Amino acid sequence: MGRIARVLVDGVSDLVLDYVVPEDMQEVRPGARVQIPLRNMQSTATVLTVFDDEGGGDYQMKPIHRLIDPEPLISEPMMELARWAADYYAVPLEQMIRCLLPETVRQDQGTPKTRKMLYLEKKPNQEDIEVLFARAPRQASILQSLLTTPSGSLPLQDLGGSLALEPARSLVRKGWVRIEEETVHRQPMVDEEFVESKPMRLNECQQKALEGILVNIESPERKPILLQGVTGSGKTEVYLQATERVVKQGKSVLILVPEISLTPQTLQRFKSRFASLPGSVAVLHSMLSDGERFDEWHAIRQGKARIVVGPRSAVFAPVRNLGLIIVDEEHDGSYKQENSPRYHGRDLAVLRAKFEHASVILGSATPSMESVRNVLVGKYERLRLDERADGKRLPLIRVLDMRLEGSRRARQGGGVPFLSERLRMAVNERLERDEQVIFLLNRRGFACSLQCPDCGAVVTCPHCARPLTYHKTEERLICHLCAYQAVTPRVCPECHSHNILFQGYGTEKVEELMKKVFTQACLARIDADIARRKNAVRDILRQFRAHKIDILLGTQMIAKGLDFPNVTLVGVLNADISLHIPDLRASERTFQLMTQVAGRAGRGDIDGEVIIQTFTPQAPAIQYARHHDSDGFAEQELELRQAFDLPPYSHMALLTIRAVHDELASFAAQSIYRRLLTELPENVTMTEPLPAPIPKAYGQYRYQITFKAPQARTISRHVRKILSQLSLGREVTAVLDIDVYSFM
Ligand code: ADP
Ligand code: ZN
Ligand code: ZN
Repeated sequence: MGRIARVLVDGVSDLVLDYVVPEDMQEVRPGARVQIPLRNMQSTATVLTVFDDEGGGDYQMKPIHRLIDPEPLISEPMMELARWAADYYAVPLEQMIRCLLPETVRQDQGTPKTRKMLYLEKKPNQEDIEVLFARAPRQASILQSLLTTPSGSLPLQDLGGSLALEPARSLVRKGWVRIEEETVHRQPMVDEEFVESKPMRLNECQQKALEGILVNIESPERKPILLQGVTGSGKTEVYLQATERVVKQGKSVLILVPEISLTPQTLQRFKSRFASLPGSVAVLHSMLSDGERFDEWHAIRQGKARIVVGPRSAVFAPVRNLGLIIVDEEHDGSYKQENSPRYHGRDLAVLRAKFEHASVILGSATPSMESVRNVLVGKYERLRLDERADGKRLPLIRVLDMRLEGSRRARQGGGVPFLSERLRMAVNERLERDEQVIFLLNRRGFACSLQCPDCGAVVTCPHCARPLTYHKTEERLICHLCAYQAVTPRVCPECHSHNILFQGYGTEKVEELMKKVFTQACLARIDADIARRKNAVRDILRQFRAHKIDILLGTQMIAKGLDFPNVTLVGVLNADISLHIPDLRASERTFQLMTQVAGRAGRGDIDGEVIIQTFTPQAPAIQYARHHDSDGFAEQELELRQAFDLPPYSHMALLTIRAVHDELASFAAQSIYRRLLTELPENVTMTEPLPAPIPKAYGQYRYQITFKAPQARTISRHVRKILSQLSLGREVTAVLDIDVYSFM
């Protein structure tokens, strides 16, 4: 009787095969990487389980060829997390394994990355070098180079690479130098110096919060913690001190942050605090080169780096002996991955902490409705920081009714949209005093709901109270949550204006227009386009901090976490753009955004001011943000969600069916829909297929079916079952998004 390993083969979606574990490979465990024979080739695979052969096994079963790593690359709890996520999000397990093992780690065949280093063995004098130079100039110049470095060593690469190998070997024979193979650790940000920062003296609120966290860490029955602290309340300092304690206990800490571009900022604060422990802080994010990623990954796995900072994908970091996970700005939409596997980083963080018996802190000034509800039902505990850490006041927020602000005149006169006279004057005032300004323009120009620019009326669904989506081609308004449809009005139902068709402006266009208004100021823009360039955001933020830039214009990317003392004015150019997108979280997001961006003002000694321009000043998202009232907002928003049975009181999912030809996409959507309808589980509701709010994207026509159920798994299992029975053909793609965030 032998042992059998069930493996998941790389590169083939969910191909699971059994192999015999050879006698000399009994240490094979789940999570291990192996080389296996597959047809006539060698392939790599990940071991899922190992079990005893009950006899009568398949006599054709082949043995595992080789064990790639002596120790499994994936720990048992991480395997469990992968299985859970594959089931919950209805994706092949292979996709989750891919998240756990980055490509560069998977392709590695077990050979460590090394480089040849040259060390001076014997110090030559000038005469030695001259003598050598006459006969072997290349050898002489290598010696010369080594002499000029303080350490007396250089990588071969810097001396001319393989060309230098022959002369270097001659030098070895003559006893001048020695060559050593060294493993390289390509650490990002090595060019930067970190001055150690000392822990701050916590204020009373922070002290209480930290104590609460420490109790949680010590207790065997721990609930996830929601750390609800107003902007500027010093959450980061609390994270830092909690991290310090956990690291002192010999455990590791994982810190998740919202956006790639903001990683450097958090990273810097952690690197500075732990500067006396070099190499203890690692970073994982998508902008790393393969080499950097490989090194950071292994440094984390080997336990060299015990503090890991990164965006959502870092939730899969191979951290050992995990003591604490921190999810900063837990409400942030960027924790949801918008391509397959469409997991939610925060939700997986909570689960991972549970599997690894670690604590988890979800921090936010404006917690998600999901987390608030979890507090209310007793699943999470809440700790609060209700005051700004430095005793400063929260900024004064003014709401500017654009309907009254002569915006019409501006529009008709071809003036700058989104810039009221009032805001323009306020900006000039600040600039004259040499202070800085942030402009928020949420979302790049895409409007899909109908709002009257004259009276602010938005056409909403009578069943869901959410804005209807405008479909240009069909001239129809559709509710994407319940499929209600209406004819597009030609004039505003409220004020009979003919301007009802709203036009969106992107950040780029607004930047151009603003530059013409504020000619004396230096203005820069940050948005998703800019963020794609490596280090661009970091550089702009640095210049802004150094006051080389006066006005920073950006999307929600600039609303988070930034701390610029000289920013005294924040202008929200059009709050309505995010408020009226046909999305169940539109109001929540707008509230969060307004609050976050307002938190950017008045961090220094001068009181901050925020001006929100809007056509719908009465909207709760704007009114509660104006009063800095997170609890009040949550209360009314949850009431509304409950009344319409929307998340977090239910789970929603979106099935998108895509094809190059419209008829094919539509036909496929209809047939999938009809099949889903038979045997539809009792408590699942489903809309008929509708064209997506963006009906055609990337050359494909898109149809959507929206689901709602008390349990997400009921939806994912049903859809997965039906899709596996249907043969859609290669031209049709169907993608399921569980706990959907983007309904586009
Ligand atoms: P949050 O993340 O909650 O918005 P931050 O961590 O950015 O807040 O802190 C806001 C500011 O308050 C920072 O400049 C920070 O250095 C400062 N700060 C934090 N804790 C204290 C403290 N205990 N005493 C004085 N200043 C503090
Ligand atoms: Zn109107
Ligand atoms: Zn509806």
